[in-house]
Amino acid sequence: MSRALIERLSPTNNEIVARFAEGTVDDVNDAVTAAKIAFDKGMWPRMDAGVRAQFLRLWSRKIAENRERLARIEVEEVGKPLKYARADIDTVCALVDYAAGLGMQSHGLAYSSIGANRTGIVLREPVGVVGVVIPWNFPAETFAKKVPFALAAGCTCVIKPSEFTSGTALELAKLAAEAGIPPGVVNVVTGYGNVVGDALSGNPGVSMMSFTGSTRVGKQIIARAGEHVARTAVELGGKGATIVFADADIEDAVRGTLTSISFNQGECCVAGSRLLVHADIAEEFLQRLATAMSSLRIGDPFDEETDLGSMIHREHFDSVLRHIEEAQLEGARLVCGGIEAARRDGLHIAPTVLDDIRPSMSIFRREIFGPVLAVTRFRSLEDAVALANDSEYGLANSVWSKNIDVVMTVAKSLRSGIVWANTALDGALQLPFGGNGSSGFGRELGEAGIEEYTVLKSILIHTGKRNDTFGVAPAASQ
Ligand code: NAP
Ligand code: MG
Repeated sequence: MSRALIERLSPTNNEIVARFAEGTVDDVNDAVTAAKIAFDKGMWPRMDAGVRAQFLRLWSRKIAENRERLARIEVEEVGKPLKYARADIDTVCALVDYAAGLGMQSHGLAYSSIGANRTGIVLREPVGVVGVVIPWNFPAETFAKKVPFALAAGCTCVIKPSEFTSGTALELAKLAAEAGIPPGVVNVVTGYGNVVGDALSGNPGVSMMSFTGSTRVGKQIIARAGEHVARTAVELGGKGATIVFADADIEDAVRGTLTSISFNQGECCVAGSRLLVHADIAEEFLQRLATAMSSLRIGDPFDEETDLGSMIHREHFDSVLRHIEEAQLEGARLVCGGIEAARRDGLHIAPTVLDDIRPSMSIFRREIFGPVLAVTRFRSLEDAVALANDSEYGLANSVWSKNIDVVMTVAKSLRSGIVWANTALDGALQLPFGGNGSSGFGRELGEAGIEEYTVLKSILIHTGKRNDTFGVAPAASQ
């Protein structure tokens, strides 16, 4: 039977860069069955974590050997600049290595304090088959924030990448097989979200869904997985604030603001898409920001010098421009970038700054997922915090000030899972990553990043003759 194929056209030049099989519900069921057999009967969940770590490290080395090839697939399919795609693959390797180590550290607990004849053991066990659904903005990196951690915990996975950017997920799975990771442990089903993603979330063989993507789809996955009481962890959208106080290092804050909104063409869940700037420095700050933005290179993502590549597809390009237009109709003042500066040929959008934004305007509230910055001025710390928290999202915010009292007061008052102080879009493998509110729940990275994929089992052991009354607590029965 010939299979329907999904063609991926380059967002930069419209040429076909990939063809992916359009997966069916049957394909999903087959993949889940394979993952379930590998989990229930296979050696992967049963082997010493140290041996699993060796497989994972070999996988990481194979990924490193294929760095340039994998990076170029990301450039072709995502339209992101080559230098950043290479850095993404380096991060993938670091994530796999880190997960390998975490797997060996993962442990339960023992209680010797519950009576001379009794010992309590808490085992930490793999949750089972994990369904993984990922978006198109950081395809390889998002894969690597989930899959190696689930594997290190002893789980098996079925992965549904984005229909636009499935290339690296397929390649990473092939390299896993080359590294000797047994069949059935890493499975990829390409295809559309409403078919493959839906069937995966609804399959009772799946014990947990790990999702990154939009809040809209996240809600669907939570509901679908809830039908068979599967666990969910969802990393969703964001509307992060960059909060700049008058005593900030302005040069650093300008660069931080710029990076926060332009990195990955603004197609970044942790983007700082709102700038909250103290009124006293606002004019100078915006001037310096616009100057810095004009020096960014926008164009062919394969050009080594390019800073911003293409938007993911035409529909998204149009939606970003529509948001800019709407904001201007609602009274926003264009500082730089904008519709005139956008190039339909290549789907390029220049970093766009819109001033005079009020919280009632939709650009203050909605995630645009493009290089569009909404600027609001504040006068007091309390106003800044209230503005930052005036969002359904709660993923990442940054605060810029040289006053530690200001930094800590703001950091503790923000309702986001991540706060950066005098830095932005920063991270460390050890620090948990995730959001609150409409940005989702669950944490990746850090120790939490492997614990997500485990369940606890309590074992209570009685030694010697059990001569007290069953059903009555031992202390009361003596
Ligand atoms: P999306 O539309 O939510 O899609 C994400 C994934 O879900 C894709 O693989 C998609 O498949 C699949 N999907 C769609 N409908 C589904 C359904 N009914 N059941 C199961 N799966 C389904 O998101 P996107 O447009 O790719 O990515 C942009 C969004 O992701 C933004 O909102 C962004 O903030 C968020 N994001 C969040 C994080 C984070 O860590 N918090 C990171 C990156 C991105 P198809 O592609 O085939 O439709
Ligand atoms: Mg989609």
